[in-house]
Amino acid sequence: MFQVFVKESAYEYAKLRKDVFEMMASIEETSSVRISAGARVLIKPNLLASAPPDKAVTTHPLIIKAAAEYVLEKGAHPQVSDSHASFAKFSNLIEDCGVAGALNGLPVEIKEFTVSKKVLSTRNGNKFTPASRYNTLELAEDALAADVIINLPKLKTHTQMGLTLAVKNLFGCVVGRRKPQWHLNLGEDKELFAGLLVTIYSALRPEINIIDGILSMEGDGPGSGGIPRQLGVIMGSGSAVALDMAVCRMLGLGRMALPTNKAAYDMGLNDEFTISGEMKSVENFIFPTPSGVIFGPPFMRKFIRNNLTSHPKNIERLCKLCNECVKICPAQAITNNTKRLHFDYDKCIRCYCCIEVCPHKAIRVHQPLAVAAIKKIAKAFPFK
Ligand code: SF4
Ligand code: SF4
Repeated sequence: MFQVFVKESAYEYAKLRKDVFEMMASIEETSSVRISAGARVLIKPNLLASAPPDKAVTTHPLIIKAAAEYVLEKGAHPQVSDSHASFAKFSNLIEDCGVAGALNGLPVEIKEFTVSKKVLSTRNGNKFTPASRYNTLELAEDALAADVIINLPKLKTHTQMGLTLAVKNLFGCVVGRRKPQWHLNLGEDKELFAGLLVTIYSALRPEINIIDGILSMEGDGPGSGGIPRQLGVIMGSGSAVALDMAVCRMLGLGRMALPTNKAAYDMGLNDEFTISGEMKSVENFIFPTPSGVIFGPPFMRKFIRNNLTSHPKNIERLCKLCNECVKICPAQAITNNTKRLHFDYDKCIRCYCCIEVCPHKAIRVHQPLAVAAIKKIAKAFPFK
């Protein structure tokens, strides 16, 4: 049974530092993890894209700073790393996200993940036996080699997966272009993608997980299309799965409604938990526009998919034709003719990486008006 610790907090550094320190100490006390002198400690925030902290796209730099100072007080060596989704230079990204400024003067290594290693065993030394479709998994060498991993996700919505929390944050340990390649390999199937995310989690098993829900994101996250929302809370646990389940409870979402929770349960990782601290119920949290679901009789599915399910759509008046989305698209479904973008919906796998990386809120999920009507029709056809 895991404990999930909950604290009301704010980005006021003295208070936040005290809250993070107490939470890390509580997780250490209630689990077998110890950050010992000389240990190599990987701090894995969410550094999805270049964005200032008030946009709620990335883990707040002061939470990263507090975690790093805790590690330093233990005489251990903190390293802050991620592999982000955009094509920005990592050095520019950490400036824009406020991380470079927050860690300035501290002996902390800040480093982009660049080297991958095939996963042969889990970090705790067990044989790694993923389902065959995931057995080519390679992860950041620095993550696999760390003595302790501190996972610092942001509480955000995610157009494809509903929410991006502690388990999903570890997808950033897949290096560079291998991320969109996985999207392409797994296509639109959320269950397969959730299975991949839980497989990554089982290989890494971060010892400490603290989610930044002080300024969360609702709406069409996880990039610039989401809406910052003040929740004023940090939550932490030795189990990322338990933490994600607790966050779902706080937001009024059934625990199995999050695909990664369901995949974890199916893979035997049903980490039960108790709450320590006062967890409020969040009212009217805005979840993202549901992404496309393929339904109806098989002979109609191609037509339905291309014309009547949700899909990414360019907002031309906001688009700067910067090509970030073109470069990230794993299906090469976006082209730029120098005047406007074109989306090839036959190729598009609805991964919504383009929405994640667009720095100008110029892509949104478009849900055709006919979707509701078609869903009613589909109910009359009990095809799978
Ligand atoms: S949609 Fe966004 S990312 Fe794509 S070209 Fe336009 S501004 Fe750039
Ligand atoms: S167009 Fe967007 S949603 Fe479609 S495959 Fe490309 S990145 Fe994914």
